[in-house]
Amino acid sequence: APAPPPAQHLFNDPAEIEALRGNLLAWYDKCRRDLPWRTLAATEQDADRRAYAVWVSEVMLQQTQVATVIDYYNRWMQKWPTLQALAQASLEVSTAGIGCSPCPPGSSSNTRLCVLEQEVNELWAGLGYYSRGKRLQEAARKVVSELAGRVPRTAEDLQKLLPGVGRYTAGAIASISYGQATGVVDGNVIRVLCRLRCIGADSSSPAVIDQLWDMANALVDRSRPGDFNQALMELGATVCVPKAPLCGECPVKQHCRAWRRKLFGKPTPVPDVENCGVGGCPLCPPAAEPWDSSLGVTNFPRKAAKKQPRVVRTATCVLERRGCRGALEYLVVQRPSSGLLAGLWEFPSLPLAQDLQEEKQREVLADHLQAWMGKPVATGGLQFIGEIIHIFSHIHQTYVIYSLSLDGDVTLDPALSPSRWVTEEEFHASAVSTAMKKVL
Ligand code: SF4
Repeated sequence: APAPPPAQHLFNDPAEIEALRGNLLAWYDKCRRDLPWRTLAATEQDADRRAYAVWVSEVMLQQTQVATVIDYYNRWMQKWPTLQALAQASLEVSTAGIGCSPCPPGSSSNTRLCVLEQEVNELWAGLGYYSRGKRLQEAARKVVSELAGRVPRTAEDLQKLLPGVGRYTAGAIASISYGQATGVVDGNVIRVLCRLRCIGADSSSPAVIDQLWDMANALVDRSRPGDFNQALMELGATVCVPKAPLCGECPVKQHCRAWRRKLFGKPTPVPDVENCGVGGCPLCPPAAEPWDSSLGVTNFPRKAAKKQPRVVRTATCVLERRGCRGALEYLVVQRPSSGLLAGLWEFPSLPLAQDLQEEKQREVLADHLQAWMGKPVATGGLQFIGEIIHIFSHIHQTYVIYSLSLDGDVTLDPALSPSRWVTEEEFHASAVSTAMKKVL
């Protein structure tokens, strides 16, 4: 078995663990933010409803800020207040099939779930990572149809039985909804724990992540595990923040080795500290990048250099016409049901080769539009509007925007992806990505 990590990076003293729990929970009781999912978790008597309320919040909070999530969460819970409500809507559609209510008559077979997916996407639009909403829906169906409506009661079963529920979400649901004494590790917890114990090895490496899970499981308060986990995350979100942590106000500073190191200029003396910092310690910063005193506690955590995002250019055309009631209408088409921005609506778009000259861009875009409209498009009619940059986590995307005004009617080819004409108001209410909203 591998040797245990040096004591510098561990919590070995039961009295210190007890004190840390007490300090953190006392701070949380005084300073916690009022959030709708916390109110539901604290007041809902039914364990399944409680688990659903926490589950939805945790899925929405992945990669998205609390302030942004609140409004989406309230709207979602109003529309589908229980897991049964969400599963029920989706089961009705999938069993009734083509032309069912709420699907309009004439829906083709591959759009059986179209209307519901549309609703999910519309509620989710703006939160990003759209597949999360879809997976939540799939998991709800599974609970109702295969697990007799009962949400699994332990972190292990939640992770094993529910699609889209990973180790973190399972731990959060089980500790907050059921009081299971199990830890959680997310970005905030990684930062706090790495600072508390001066862990400077690559915090995205499996060895460090495993160590942090062990630590989170050992630290979690046995009588208030849900509050403890939320407190640790809240500390990371509001006090132990990435760039300028508020160490002076921190309720656990007396347990923080990064803070002590900053104050005293040297590592905390612990019995086997000589094992650390001289190479070979799996949790210390690499020897080539030692402690930098100008960074203070923000020496921790550290990540291996990020991969450069992929650079993509896409031509997008805003096709507009005067609708029968005189208002301008725009053509939107639906993206494929998997991959980036799955199932969302956008203006007709196509990827461009890098460094394609403007004249060539017009030609390829005109060819692409011809397929939609069934008649030739003159490149001269395309008006260049400008460029918009949108950064996805792994893609640096530039949209090159053109517009084209149409006279007369256009018959859309039903064999192509679904498409429709929308007014500006309808466009903004539709399931379109944030990037597309920037275009109009
Ligand atoms: Fe974070 Fe500073 Fe608190 Fe340490 S003392 S946990 S670095 S806020």
